[in-house]
Amino acid sequence: MAVSATLAINQLTAERLAAGRPVLPLGFGEAGLPVHPDLVAALRVAAASGSSGGYGPVTGLPALREAAAGYWRRRCLPTTAGQVIAGPGSKPLLYAVLRASVGGVALPRPSWVTYAAQAQLLGREVHHVPTLDGQGGVPDPDLLDAAAASASAAGRPIGLVVLTLPDNPTGTLAGSGTIRSVADVARRHDLLIVSDEIYRDLVHDPVREFLSPAELAPERTVVTTGLSKNLALGGWRIGVARMPEGPLGDRLGAEVAAVASEVWSSPANPVQQAAAWAFEEPEQLTERIAASRSLHARVAGAVADRFAAAGASVHPPTAAFYLYPDFSAYADLLAERWSVRTGTELANLLLDSFDVATLPGAAFGDPDERLSLRIATSMLYGEGEQREKALTAADPVELP
Ligand code: PMP
Repeated sequence: MAVSATLAINQLTAERLAAGRPVLPLGFGEAGLPVHPDLVAALRVAAASGSSGGYGPVTGLPALREAAAGYWRRRCLPTTAGQVIAGPGSKPLLYAVLRASVGGVALPRPSWVTYAAQAQLLGREVHHVPTLDGQGGVPDPDLLDAAAASASAAGRPIGLVVLTLPDNPTGTLAGSGTIRSVADVARRHDLLIVSDEIYRDLVHDPVREFLSPAELAPERTVVTTGLSKNLALGGWRIGVARMPEGPLGDRLGAEVAAVASEVWSSPANPVQQAAAWAFEEPEQLTERIAASRSLHARVAGAVADRFAAAGASVHPPTAAFYLYPDFSAYADLLAERWSVRTGTELANLLLDSFDVATLPGAAFGDPDERLSLRIATSMLYGEGEQREKALTAADPVELP
């Protein structure tokens, strides 16, 4: 297996920067913001406690599981601490959930690189189901229905569908009608729904209402989230999964716990304690998330306007810090002038000739002939103090 496309581009970018090349790093999906000082203080206190060095319980510290349950309860999802499993990031939790399920894996196309790679690691068949225009992260319900029916007819049924709400790579949030239809399809074909909601608190479009499939199909939906994006804590490696209600949830929870016990044992204790405080949503962290949401909205919006003005097709961002412009309007020009015919060739051209790092749509399961790129606009916030200032500045960044 190759290293994840997003991590690979980050490494390439870092190498070029270290060699003195002025690479504009638009490839890597980091929130691009500093850690809130009160979180650092909470981590310090937790690490200093005498018991922090011991192994913790496999499914996470009770305080964190209870705090995460409270977080979901405040979002219209009745949740007990027993339904929550904490892990070192949501990525390994997604892997363990996938491992605990059976059958083929339906993914929206495009979708985050890791789902297909994890399915591949587990030897599972992947079905890429296109999304509706502007409704990233959720397969077109009719196409999902058809894919599930034909997979069953072929004797290799689909067992699970992944939704990303809101979506990476498109920065959009699917509407509630689409989610309702997918929940119906999932019921009809007895699919497990995995709802990756790591960007949930970064929806910046005020008219888009968030609907979790766990509200519609609580008996068959796993929800995952974490602090990597809303509080820019990707490096702290902490995430949580909410198991479905009822017998399926009990079985999945036990299997995820078994994988955890053999693979990572438990997340780091001090990080869990600081995360428990974060999931209680103290005012200063809520304010920080609101400020970062507004920053992401302004910068992604400004960059989207630039692309649109230049003739690329791009959906206005409704969440997080990603754009997914399509450069088909430039197809003839790119082919004639640069011999570029695919998204991968376009990304390579941008990196080699213009020092701009992006990711091609093919990394997200899209056909390479589609000239789309994923642009992570949060990398424009700069370094160190600049990032700190961007959070409060009226004009956060100067666009290149
Ligand atoms: N889901 C999506 C859609 C993501 O973009 C990412 C990070 N790039 C993750 C999950 C992983 O998050 P974590 O740091 O919690 O493992």
